[in-house]
Amino acid sequence: MTDASLRGASVESLFAQAGALLDGHFLLKSGRHAGRYLEKFLVLQHPPYAVELCRRFADVLAPHSPTLVVGPTTGGVLLAHEAARQFGGSVRGIFAEPVAAGGRALRRGWAVDASERVVIVDDILTTGASLVETVDAVRAAGVEPLAAAVIVDRSASPVDLGFPLHSLGRIEISSWEADACELCAADIPLRKPGSG
Ligand SMILES: [Zn+2]
Repeated sequence: MTDASLRGASVESLFAQAGALLDGHFLLKSGRHAGRYLEKFLVLQHPPYAVELCRRFADVLAPHSPTLVVGPTTGGVLLAHEAARQFGGSVRGIFAEPVAAGGRALRRGWAVDASERVVIVDDILTTGASLVETVDAVRAAGVEPLAAAVIVDRSASPVDLGFPLHSLGRIEISSWEADACELCAADIPLRKPGSG
């Protein structure tokens, strides 16, 4: 893939080309069964793909003139870093990580000034939990985020953060309740994918 062909590709096509759109029979975190699974790190392991996706983040988030990009661990670490690099200047990229008390926090000694213009990036939006926890971590640091962007929106119902949420693409994946799964009925072995 050349940089020019990456630029013209849909998000679904980028996942497919990277082998990150897996076919099979998968147990989702929700307990539902699905016939496809997005293994985001098969895309993000390739710097040209990660750079292209973050170029799109920078495009949609540029109107908010961010000074700080925040993402949830683990995918958000590299997305926030690369998106910040693409904004250039003194824009920083940091991450919100889980804390023992529950939720996420900005740790690592990062200073977040009340005047910061914060945007949030994440990989796959499903329930919105990691995004909401990241928003809470930013608010706990005393700043209201301006916008968020995700690579793929797979949410079943809209996630309301109280500010704009941009999505670079949608990838439709059929899923079923475990007791109504067509793939179980066809005796296809069930896999529990990934760790994230
Ligand atoms: Zn099944």
